[in-house]
Amino acid sequence: MDCRVYIVSCPDYDHADEKMQLLFSMMGGIDRFVKAGEKIVLKANLLQAAIPDQAVTTHPRIVAAAARMVKGEGALPIIADSPGAGYKYNSKTLNTLYRKSGMLEAAEASGAELNFDTTCVAVSFPRGKLIKHFEVINPVTTADGVLGLCKLKTHTLMSITGAVKNNFGVIPGLSKPGYHAKLHDKAQFADMLLDLAEYVSPRLSIMDAVVGMEGDGPGVAGFPRHVGLLLGSVNPLALDIVASEIIGLRREQNPLLIAAAKRGITPSCIEEVELVGAEISKIRVPGYRLPATIEELGIREHLTWWQKPLGPYLKDWLSQAPRVRGKKCVACGICRDSCPAGAITILDTKRRAAFIDDKQCIRCYCCHELCPEGAVELRRSLMHRLLGIGAGERSA
Ligand code: SF4
Ligand code: SF4
Repeated sequence: MDCRVYIVSCPDYDHADEKMQLLFSMMGGIDRFVKAGEKIVLKANLLQAAIPDQAVTTHPRIVAAAARMVKGEGALPIIADSPGAGYKYNSKTLNTLYRKSGMLEAAEASGAELNFDTTCVAVSFPRGKLIKHFEVINPVTTADGVLGLCKLKTHTLMSITGAVKNNFGVIPGLSKPGYHAKLHDKAQFADMLLDLAEYVSPRLSIMDAVVGMEGDGPGVAGFPRHVGLLLGSVNPLALDIVASEIIGLRREQNPLLIAAAKRGITPSCIEEVELVGAEISKIRVPGYRLPATIEELGIREHLTWWQKPLGPYLKDWLSQAPRVRGKKCVACGICRDSCPAGAITILDTKRRAAFIDDKQCIRCYCCHELCPEGAVELRRSLMHRLLGIGAGERSA
């Protein structure tokens, strides 16, 4: 498997076209990936309707630059994604999403098509180690090929979302909670993502790391952070390994890399990746804020000898709990519709607001990820406070 990751510096989005051309020429030319007459899905990260400056979605200038390259080969670029859990995959949702995220302008400027086909198809994938059947959005099955246009972002559940996780967007919005419901465990969820990435098999993945997201991403609760890079690879896992290095995410904090190593997939660490165009030591971003939830992965390291046997019984105490900030909540119901555990109700009180039943919550953090108002916060558990874990991230 090709483990090369190509990197070009891209100081801002005004340079998107020029840097995209440079990246493709380093990778052997666009004609290596696209042929005249083909239909190519540009699978951007369009998690939710957010403006480009919020760094929630792949920047429209990057999408337009990729679309121009595809179009230049005589192929048809189609911009497609299904937004996050809780959002219905229909024309109304897509219209809002395309308008707010700048995809409408990107399509107009580049000649790309915007996907409005909201049908879904059940596909079987016998090679899947964990999941052998998926329901996916139709354009992925009818296109000749997929180019992944992911965004560098932190992620409260999976620590990072990049090239591999980007493929979760081919699952229609309201089907996504089912995966969280069945796969509570981060390790299992990571396993599913590896199967899905193999099913989608993008011909190439490009990462918009010009402005990334740090903190409690991947939704509006995270913060934009300038990184100034554009990355490309035929190997999504290799791309994510480099992205993790850039933001200072250790391998043991990354469920995807742990799952990949367990399957014996290479590469599973930076030493097995070949970097082209930059040295890793020169592109690390110091002080990149990681999500507070990653401590749950290594929390047992923090327990003293007498606390260790209690660990399995205190699972709920050991994880960050979502809470709704009533004043910010507009009772839109997106969190309720995204919740795989049915733990959220909209209270019909004088001031309508969402309420989370902590007993039912399985800590998937979809509500936190998808609340468009940033009204869901993550509170440190009692154990986090007792052990003094996570306090730094809150004050950062
Ligand atoms: S918490 Fe957010 S997503 Fe949930 S109802 Fe309130 S505003 Fe909507
Ligand atoms: S309430 Fe809990 S289970 Fe429901 S979406 Fe939020 S984190 Fe997930």
